[in-house]
Amino acid sequence: MAGYDYDLFVIGGGSGGVRAARVAAALGKRVAIAEEYRFGGTCVIRGCVPKKLYVYASQFPEHFADAAGYGWTVPEASFDWLTLVANKDKEIARLEAIYEKNVEGAGGETFHSRAVLVDQHAIYLTAEDRTVSADQILIATGGRPAPHPALSGHEYCIFSNEAFDLKELPKTIMIEGGGYIAVEFANIFHGLGVDTTLVYRGQEILSRFDMDLRRSLHETMEKKGIRILTHSISEGVRKTPGGRLDVLLSSGQTLTVDQVMLAIGRIPNTENMGLEGVGIELGKTGAIIVDQYSRTNIDNIWAIGDVTHRVQLTPVAIYEAMCFIETAFKDNPTAPDHDTIPTAVFSQPEIGTVGLSEDDAIKRYADVEIYRASFRPMRHTLSGRDEKMLMKLVVDGSTRKVLGAHILGPDAGEMAQLLGIPLKAGLTKDDFDRTMAVHPTAAEELVTMYKPTYRVKNGERV
Ligand SMILES: Cc1cc2nc3c(=O)[nH]c(=O)nc-3n(C[C@H](O)[C@H](O)[C@H](O)COP(=O)(O)OP(=O)(O)OC[C@H]3O[C@@H](n4cnc5c(N)ncnc54)[C@H](O)[C@@H]3O)c2cc1C
Repeated sequence: MAGYDYDLFVIGGGSGGVRAARVAAALGKRVAIAEEYRFGGTCVIRGCVPKKLYVYASQFPEHFADAAGYGWTVPEASFDWLTLVANKDKEIARLEAIYEKNVEGAGGETFHSRAVLVDQHAIYLTAEDRTVSADQILIATGGRPAPHPALSGHEYCIFSNEAFDLKELPKTIMIEGGGYIAVEFANIFHGLGVDTTLVYRGQEILSRFDMDLRRSLHETMEKKGIRILTHSISEGVRKTPGGRLDVLLSSGQTLTVDQVMLAIGRIPNTENMGLEGVGIELGKTGAIIVDQYSRTNIDNIWAIGDVTHRVQLTPVAIYEAMCFIETAFKDNPTAPDHDTIPTAVFSQPEIGTVGLSEDDAIKRYADVEIYRASFRPMRHTLSGRDEKMLMKLVVDGSTRKVLGAHILGPDAGEMAQLLGIPLKAGLTKDDFDRTMAVHPTAAEELVTMYKPTYRVKNGERV
């Protein structure tokens, strides 16, 4: 080991890479990390963090409108996009500096450079034009928006990366995609006053989430004024003489908008990194194939986070980093557990979810109980907002184990975090029932749904 420059070299300074570098350095290992763009990675620079700040920004018009029922008169509000962008930039620059400083503070070395593998132990740093060596190498290069080169006029389209920094707020936008990024941006732009159309090729937005939530969110978004066109794809984008964009849809319809944003998936960053030369095995989509401990087919090279295309979420990348440290440096082989991951969609209203959807539970269990409540949250009684909250528990009828918990409504993401604990612990509906309610809250509904709304036995609703 002493023959190498470092005990660990991490490629990619995002959520997973920074965590691994910082913790390994704190253990006394000789660590270096290279980041080619900005420390903090997707989550901090152009993902979770700026996204959530924009979600907050986009919620104000509804807060202003709701205030009237509570006696407030709010003067006509105006919004300045460039102020939001500048304030967001300040905040992410602050976080970026903290990420880098934390690695250095733990004793790690940071490089602002692209890193490319030369051989099993050698890494070429392009910005420094030199090669360094390491005993262990961790690839945490994340992913990027999937391009759509087959779409004529794709060069006029933007992706989530650009959406954060537009020079001006468009008046109209079309967003293509049905995943959480497409749905969140549709809500953000709509909330900021942009005429928004969501175009999705599938039958219903947000595949893999519980169908009840998907349908209810779809309905609510349409009620707010977001146009949602399912079973639809764009077939071509053309610039109009006036500088706008005509999008020809598969339905034959043409939409004229100011911006087209593609959110049709994400692909791993594995190109031109020397991986093939070293013989690292890649999957069909270019993701790095790893074993249960995040080790590639090359003994001393590991990969975590989005680049492995397992579960593309920040806490998962961080968790995989911690498991990697246990395995590689603490002689305690630890496989990340990807089961029952709570998650949120920061749409308006929000989705919070953990565990099995009703459809998935029915496929796996012969007797499933569904507890479902749909009600107007208390805050909307005086605001007069015509919006319902949905809560649903999916329970195994034979063992009473709660298999899934799904919420649509204000603060659903916060609730999903807490529901993650009882579901991970394998608690039963009876445990929920003997938990005292917190009153008056919306969440109390989760412990006061005593009778199943319906059961599904061997696939039949009874
Ligand atoms: C719009 C959007 C919203 C999101 N919202 C959420 C959310 O609300 N909650 C959530 O949990 N997750 C969210 N995510 C997903 C989350 O951002 C990722 O799962 C997470 O960032 C993955 O971390 P990572 O360490 O694997 O990779 P990344 O954070 O992507 O970091 C990889 C880093 O490697 C660098 N890099 C790549 N190649 C090289 C190279 N050869 N040399 C040097 N550096 C290199 C990149 O520049 C990048 O900084 C969102 C993502 C997007 C795009």
